Amino acid sequence: MNQLYYLTDEQRAIRDLAREIARERIAPLATHVDETGEYPHEQLKLLAQQGLMGLHVPEAYGGAAAGSLAFCLAAEEVAWACAATATIFLVQNLGGYPIVFAGTEAQKRRYLPRIASGEITAAFSLSESGSGSDAAGMQCAAVRKGDRYVVNGSKMWVTNGSHAGVITVFVTTNRSQRAKGITALLIEPGLKGFSVGKNERKLGIHGSPTVALHFTDCEVPVENRVGEEGEGFKVAMRTLEHSRPTIGAQAVGIGQAALDAATAYAKERRAFEQPIAAFQGIQFMLADMAMAVHGSRLVVHHAASLIDHGVPSAAMESSIAKCMASDTAMKVATDAVQILGGYGYTREFPVERYMRDAKITQIYEGTNQIQRLVIAQQLLGKL
Ligand SMILES: Cc1cc2nc3c(=O)[nH]c(=O)nc-3n(C[C@H](O)[C@H](O)[C@H](O)COP(=O)(O)OP(=O)(O)OC[C@H]3O[C@@H](n4cnc5c(N)ncnc54)[C@H](O)[C@@H]3O)c2cc1C
Repeated sequence: MNQLYYLTDEQRAIRDLAREIARERIAPLATHVDETGEYPHEQLKLLAQQGLMGLHVPEAYGGAAAGSLAFCLAAEEVAWACAATATIFLVQNLGGYPIVFAGTEAQKRRYLPRIASGEITAAFSLSESGSGSDAAGMQCAAVRKGDRYVVNGSKMWVTNGSHAGVITVFVTTNRSQRAKGITALLIEPGLKGFSVGKNERKLGIHGSPTVALHFTDCEVPVENRVGEEGEGFKVAMRTLEHSRPTIGAQAVGIGQAALDAATAYAKERRAFEQPIAAFQGIQFMLADMAMAVHGSRLVVHHAASLIDHGVPSAAMESSIAKCMASDTAMKVATDAVQILGGYGYTREFPVERYMRDAKITQIYEGTNQIQRLVIAQQLLGKL
């Protein structure tokens, strides 16, 4: 594939650095992470040592302020090697964005330099057992008492919630107001009344913990509030608009890895006294996979570039990037399993892992049905 000539020297350098770490240091550990579910401490440390954990953090707080496209380039490379490590790498962004967008100066000074250096990881907690797509229907509630919020209830599906040094937790301060009653609070581990619950057993991304959080009369100082009371939903939606292209980038990385594995196998595997790559049926599958991965990458880069250019809203392009790239990753990984035949279905080759890992990109940060709703709303306006 040709060079991406539209990248700046800085973006190219970030991609190349991430590619080197991903291919030489992270990829060799990916099967182990998948089979054991071990948390990828060393892999994250490597990314942090090279300054890649703070790509989204402003320079004033120790980050590289490299922008969304640069982050997507790095995320694709990490996901090519290990989707579980990539998920935690992405959540560093997702958990950090609310502080970047709406944090007070004190919050920025307290957390952003440590997020940028990788000293702490971050997490983002919006979903609950009864409310995922319908996030505004959340039940976990906070009541203000003087200079504290008293939080009661539970959150679910929190990626990295068991390891994060700071979690942006969305709670309701007024249930009847739904979205307008949601408030964002910063929670640190060790807070009295706060505990980490069940770690889910999942289909894929095994090294990325997905946990419940429980709050029982947990007192959170008012200075931990991000943005105004009732402004939390807006903070969450702005964060998701910025982070959805990065899920697209993760999906592109998984799709590219599946395409690479299938291409290599097709040239090696022989049937009917010739490489299976000589069959037009296989060539057309590979060509379709390449077109889909390439197209998805460009759509992800376009959404990220819009964000970097500060357009008023990139909601539609951001949802298109996430939805198209994740549907592509799922299809391409499934086709890669098909091209490897029986071997594709075994753990001898990584393509079955790519297929399991690809699935989550169609579900988290808003299912692909919800992305289609966002796209349709942008198309149709208020009916
Ligand atoms: C591994 C993993 C990691 C996650 N990490 C995080 C995290 O870090 N932070 C966080 O806050 N959340 C996280 N999530 C939660 C994730 O974002 C939700 O699971 C997702 O948004 C879907 O919500 P739900 O599971 O409640 O499904 P539901 O909302 O119950 O949806 C069920 C089905 O109905 C469809 N559906 C719902 N509403 C509509 C509609 N209006 N129109 C058409 N179809 C609809 C959905 O698309 C889906 O197919 C994670 C989930 C997983 C599995």
